[in-house]
Amino acid sequence: MIIIVAQIPEDGLDLDITLPVDDIDLSNVNGSLETDVEYKGSVHRFSTGCIVSGTVRSAWKLPCARCLETFSFPVSEEFRIFLTRELTEDEDEEIDMDVSELLSDEINLIHILREQLILQIPMKPICSQSCRGLCSSCGNNLNSEDCNCDTTSIDPRLKKLKELKDLMDK
Ligand SMILES: [Zn+2]
Ligand SMILES: [Zn+2]
Repeated sequence: MIIIVAQIPEDGLDLDITLPVDDIDLSNVNGSLETDVEYKGSVHRFSTGCIVSGTVRSAWKLPCARCLETFSFPVSEEFRIFLTRELTEDEDEEIDMDVSELLSDEINLIHILREQLILQIPMKPICSQSCRGLCSSCGNNLNSEDCNCDTTSIDPRLKKLKELKDLMDK
């Protein structure tokens, strides 16, 4: 989905599109998209650049950081990006929206939507605030069944060490 800047009409280009999941490159993302990507918005052209705004909707399928099960994470994000030909420092401060550099005479809408969707992925996705995670002893998913492990007796110093090890394993 490429938009040629010179072809954007004076009063802007209104868009209402649906992109199939396969059109979006997610090779570096820890997650997949569950539903097609919908975008409704507009693109406006100015002498100094373009503004792309609107709402992007889809749903991620993410692995829970606690229990490792995948879960659905719906996204509906309103955004506004100013693509400018001359990126200057003070412009960044004055305009209350995202500013990116317009590198060519084309706008790759898929790149923009992809970025907006990825920005919504939490650092630590959790399937539910009440997720009980995995048993640190037997690895059981405590959301589905309890185990009989006694995890209360773990020496706190060993626990710290284990946390450190888990971190390094990532
Ligand atoms: Zn979970
Ligand atoms: Zn257990």
